[in-house]
Formats: sequence, C-alpha cells, structure tokens
Amino acid sequence: MSKHVTHWIGGKPFDAAGADQRRADIADPATGAVAGTVDLAGPAEVDAAVAAARAAFPAWRDTSLSGRASVLFRFRELVAAGSGELARIISAEHGKVVSDAAGEVARGLEVVEFACGIPHLLKGAFSENVSSRVDAYSIPQPLGVVAAITPFNFPAMVPMWMFPVAIACGNTVVLKPSEKDPSAAVRLAELWAQAGLPDGVFNVVHGDRAAVDALLEHRDVKAVSFVGSTPVARSIYATAAARGKRVQALGGAKNHMLVLPDADLDAAADAAVSAGFGSAGERCMAISAVVATEPIADELLERIRERVARLRVGPGDDERSEMGPLVTREHRDRVAGYLESGVREGATLAIDGRTHPVLGGGADGFWLGPSLLDHVTPQMSCYTDEIFGPVLSMLRVPDLDAGLELINANPYGNGTAVFTGDGAAARRFQNEVEVGMVGINVPIPVPMAYYSFGGWKDSLFGDSHMHGTEGVHFYTRTKAVTARWRAAAGGPSAATAAAGRSGVNLGFPTSG
Ligand code: NAD
Repeated sequence: MSKHVTHWIGGKPFDAAGADQRRADIADPATGAVAGTVDLAGPAEVDAAVAAARAAFPAWRDTSLSGRASVLFRFRELVAAGSGELARIISAEHGKVVSDAAGEVARGLEVVEFACGIPHLLKGAFSENVSSRVDAYSIPQPLGVVAAITPFNFPAMVPMWMFPVAIACGNTVVLKPSEKDPSAAVRLAELWAQAGLPDGVFNVVHGDRAAVDALLEHRDVKAVSFVGSTPVARSIYATAAARGKRVQALGGAKNHMLVLPDADLDAAADAAVSAGFGSAGERCMAISAVVATEPIADELLERIRERVARLRVGPGDDERSEMGPLVTREHRDRVAGYLESGVREGATLAIDGRTHPVLGGGADGFWLGPSLLDHVTPQMSCYTDEIFGPVLSMLRVPDLDAGLELINANPYGNGTAVFTGDGAAARRFQNEVEVGMVGINVPIPVPMAYYSFGGWKDSLFGDSHMHGTEGVHFYTRTKAVTARWRAAAGGPSAATAAAGRSGVNLGFPTSG
C-alpha cells in the first residue's frame, strides 16, 4: 500500500489536504518504484508549526531541569526499544542496509544520552563578593523557537545531533527533514509524544526550498541549524545571519585518507573499503580520496580490489547485503557520470562498479557498485567535486609533506585520516592538517556525543559545531547578573550629609 507522509504540528499529524497541496514522491531505491508521497509545506504550514512551537516555549523553558531530563530519559528508552523499526523505516526510503541504519540510530541515541545530563550542562558561573556585598553570576537561557534543516543521508542521526540538545536547553523545535526520506522524523515525533514531551515542543514540517525559505524568513525563528551540501549551507548561513538569526550550517566534504609507507596495509585497505563504500558512500565522513604514498600505492590498490570483489550489493532489507542502492535515480546517474568524466580526464578506471553483481532488488533500482578511479589528479572533476557515492579516487604522492599539502589545498575540511605506524608522523599530521575531525588509523573519526561534530573551511559556515558543549552554547544565550543585597536599610552616611553632598555616587562602578 502506498504511504502518505504529512507534517507533525502541535503534538499530532497535521493534514494539509487541499486541492492545491504540493506533494513529492518517495521512492523505494531498491526497486525504483514510487513507494508513497510526502506533503510539501509552504508558508502557511511553516507558520502553523512555528506558532505551535512559540506557544509551547514559555511553559517548556520553565519546566524544571529534572522534569526535562525525565522526558529525555523516557525518549531514550523508547528510541532504543524501537531502533529496529526505525532502522527499517530509514532503509526503505534511503536504501542503506538495515544494520547500517541501526548504527545511525545508535549514534543519534548517544546525543540523547548526552542531553540527559542537561542539569549539569546548564550550570552557570557564580562569583561571590565581586565588590562589597555584590555577587555576579551567569545564567544560560534558551533562545526560543529553533529550526533544524537536515539532509537525506542520515534521516535520524543528523536531526538527533540537534534536537535533543535544543530541547534539553529549553527551546522548542521545528524540524525540516529531507523530503527524500521523511518518515523517520515523524516516527521520532511520535516517540517524543509517548515520552511525555508537551505538544508543540517538537514539530516536523516536510518540504523543499519553499519550506526552508519560509523558516528563514520567519521572525519567530531565533536560530537555524543546517546540515547539507556546501552551496545550500553557504546560502542558508548568509540569509539567516542577515536576518539576525544565530546559525550553524554544516556543508559538504571531500575526505582524504593518507596512507604512509609504514602503515598496516590490510588495516588501511579494510578502512578504505568500509569508509568508502559503507552506506554507498553517502556519508559526510565517507572517505572519497585515498592518498597513497608511492611505495605502497600498487599493493594497497590490489588489497582494496580483493575486498571489493567480495562485497555484497543488494536491497537494504536483505540480510546478505553489505551495501544498498543510491538514494534517487538522478543521484545514481550523476555519480556514475564521474566514472566517465574521470576516464575522459585521464584517470584509470581500476574498479568499475557498473558491472558489480546485485543480489535481488529490481532492475530499475538505483544501483551502482563500488568503483575506484586510479591516477586521479587534483584538477579532475572527480576530485574537485563532492561525488557522494561509492566512487573512491586514488591519488599518488611521494611522501607525508606532499600528502599534507594536497589535503590542505582542498577547499573542504570535514574529516580526514592518516594510516601509519609512525607516531611522530601521525602527530605532525594531526598538528598541521587543516581539517575539523582527524582519524589516526581510524577511517571515520566521528566525534562522540560529548565532543562536538563539525568541519573547517567550506564544510562549516558559522562558529559552532554540533552537540557536545558547543551544541549547548549554540542553543543558549547567557545573561550576566550583578546583584547587591544590603544587610539593613541604609541612607547617606552622616559624614556625607554633613558635607552637603547628595550621597548618590555618580562614579563608574568599580570593585572595592
Ligand atoms: P542538500 O543540501 O540538497 O539538502 C539539505 C536540506 O536542504 C534538505 O532538507 C533539503 O530539502 C534542503 N534544500 C535543498 N536545496 C535547497 C535550497 N536550494 N534552498 C534551501 N533548502 C534546500 O543535501 P542532501 O543532498 O540532502 O545531503 C547530502 C549533502 O549533505 C552532502 O553534500 C553531504 O556532504 C552533506 N552532509 C554534510 C554533513 C556534515 O556534517 N558536514 C553531514 C551529512 C551530510
């Protein structure tokens, strides 16, 4: 039966049924068939969601810290219990294999667990006696209604980088997930309701650019968290900041893995294959460029080739599958286009995923097997563009210096990794590389929830990374209070009065 996905506003589904309602199809990537439709919000639906969030804000921000934490604990239990179902929902629309989808739910849950500690995270500072009988303190307070705009590739985890922390801090949220795989967001909204979150604290509007524009224009939206491609991130940052909103906009990536001559080559080949082809390369932390030092490049390629030959590509819900289809037909065709342009521009197609066998699924599914272009140079479009699919580019460099120079010249700075057995080389790499998240013999160095996630350069517009203490800072603003309490009623001293002065001190306040 074909499904229909609609918004979630004020604690319940919001049926925007009307003759002029815009809708988009949701595909089953494994068969290429239309599996359902999703409503696309315009200004009216966005207005309804923001109004619900605004109405819920005063009571939620005044809910005690332990009251908020109890809702988060219940939500954590419900998501953990329902993670299998959520993983199947994600796999059906995104295409990734169910075990990988369960992994993204688990990583999202770690942020919920971090946010359960909100009473500790929201402690302000207090200084006694900054002046005689004067104390000073700071209070972190929520911002109000915050918007979360998220990409297709992690329909549960990326929203969970944002909303648990935002809600724990006392804000109310309007989430605009990707229209390509919208169902996970609605399931999360239902679980929030079951956990006892008051109506209106968490809302979901589906849609495309029209919904995003309406959120950016809305004067009651105080902050915007965005994750997606670099051109959209750049434009959202500029628009939201120009309207006075606080904004963090995480963009695209080109993640390099540098393999030095003393690396464990089996570990490096395992890492290149799992980080290059897991989730069909549709991860912002996927490795897309293998930078091999010349002495080991041929051997590394052979070890990658052996592993790729054994990879099982098939539908996400088939337990035998290790890699699923791509998210849409257009995206599959765009990614496959880089195999042709790479060869045209002088690269060698060492592994051609177009001929990789597919287990089951439909002939019209959005399939592309794991591929590798060798002898890629920095000028080729397969290197300059973010491919976001199962295509590894191999570049060859003489040594660590050349590898660092190549990585630092790239405009993106999301994640990177070095594979080596030399601690001094690894330390130099971590010190000099201009990238926000660095792995040492770890291919996908996604920070734990209590650190913060975010890249440098064209991978992040704004100052704050997501979750961890940077997330708490992003979703709060600090008020500094200076307070004086006199022990007993006082007036001008007798000496001041005798001197004929008013007793009011017009000097600039100083401590003493
Ligand atoms: P996208 O930029 O196309 O879409 C992201 C969100 O923005 C979606 O909700 C979409 O509906 C909306 N959107 C799309 N075009 C828009 C426009 N012109 N104006 C306003 N809103 C628009 O990204 P995607 O294809 O869904 O996701 C893949 C991209 O996300 C890749 O570039 C990937 O690197 C990036 N990504 C980055 C991170 C990170 O942490 N830096 C994490 C995940 C994904």
